[in-house]
Amino acid sequence: MTVLVSGANGYIAEHIVNELLNQDYKVIGTVRSEAKADKLFKQFGSNPNLILEVVEDISDLHAFDEVFKKYASEIKYVLHTASPFTLDVEDYVKELFIPALHGVKAMLHAVEKYGATTVERFVLTSSYAAIMDFDKEMVPGTIFTETSWNPDNWEKAQESVGRAYNGSKVFAEREAWNFIEEKGDRVKFKLSVVNPVYVFGPHVFDEDVSVKMNTSCEIINKAVHTSANTIVHPFETFGSFVDVRDVARAHLLAFQRKDLIGKRLLMDAGRFSTQDIFDVLNQEIPVLKGKVPVGKPGTGGQHNNIGATVDNRLTCELLGFEFTSFKKTIVDTAQQILKHDGSH
Ligand code: NDP
Repeated sequence: MTVLVSGANGYIAEHIVNELLNQDYKVIGTVRSEAKADKLFKQFGSNPNLILEVVEDISDLHAFDEVFKKYASEIKYVLHTASPFTLDVEDYVKELFIPALHGVKAMLHAVEKYGATTVERFVLTSSYAAIMDFDKEMVPGTIFTETSWNPDNWEKAQESVGRAYNGSKVFAEREAWNFIEEKGDRVKFKLSVVNPVYVFGPHVFDEDVSVKMNTSCEIINKAVHTSANTIVHPFETFGSFVDVRDVARAHLLAFQRKDLIGKRLLMDAGRFSTQDIFDVLNQEIPVLKGKVPVGKPGTGGQHNNIGATVDNRLTCELLGFEFTSFKKTIVDTAQQILKHDGSH
């Protein structure tokens, strides 16, 4: 059984591909260049169940046509993970909105045109960004759930880079649900969506750790490399976290289980703040003790009183597995970073 995974070399997608190969699926992954395809193929040990195709830019509304022309009869499941996750952008529309929105449009268009009767399930990697409301995020008592929607429109989402990234995710997700509403009867596939909060955890391959990491892991990377005498606000970053291995697992269950059809899986394993990261680094990783700031140990939870919280009991019940703890997620991420530091 063949699964198409877009953005196969992404941080989350590599875990998904890894899990798919472990479960004996045939995987067709898309990456942006031959060099990235060669690297990923080697990383997965030249696994014959992995085929990589180049899709240079998902901003192109026909980006996935060639892949479908080639493999349409084979592809049974589509996991669309590719989307820009960076805050280092100048042109919000060109660098975030268009690739996110056109990417999902391009994939839906290709499935409609070439796989209407063969693709059975479609899983979209959306985000908490498509759920939360910036104007309510700091209002105590606000609770976001699987039924909450980021209300920003095209204009509002251009007010800041954070809003712009979140906008890119909600525009893409709305597009997918609208497609189902309008054209659901013309295609065989059913839609499920995965909405993770901040995703941490190790990369599949140690060699993918770099001086500057993917947007979410960079938060841990930065903490590991902050010297002890630096004054860091305990809530410089706060929000919710989830382990990348749990996010990958949810992507597989999302297409494997009938009861997850039509669901938004809000992947949230609990709250955290910068202080909580430093607590784990100081307490659990001996080589970092005294090397990173101590702050005010044990006070990280105070950020819970600051603003909105998340209630994802529905997702937890549906998935039925226990999420990885904050301690394990942070320790595993930091240890891989330290291993990389040691090898240079
Ligand atoms: P990565 O940056 O590691 O992965 C993003 C993937 O999308 C890469 O393969 C990237 O290719 C590809 N991509 C980006 N822009 C384009 C484009 N214009 N054309 C073609 N491919 C493109 O990030 P993550 O793994 O963290 O993110 C994966 C998905 O998960 C995204 O949809 C993101 O929004 C979502 N997400 C991530 C969270 C997190 O905390 N990490 C939280 C919630 C959702 P390349 O590497 O070649 O640029």
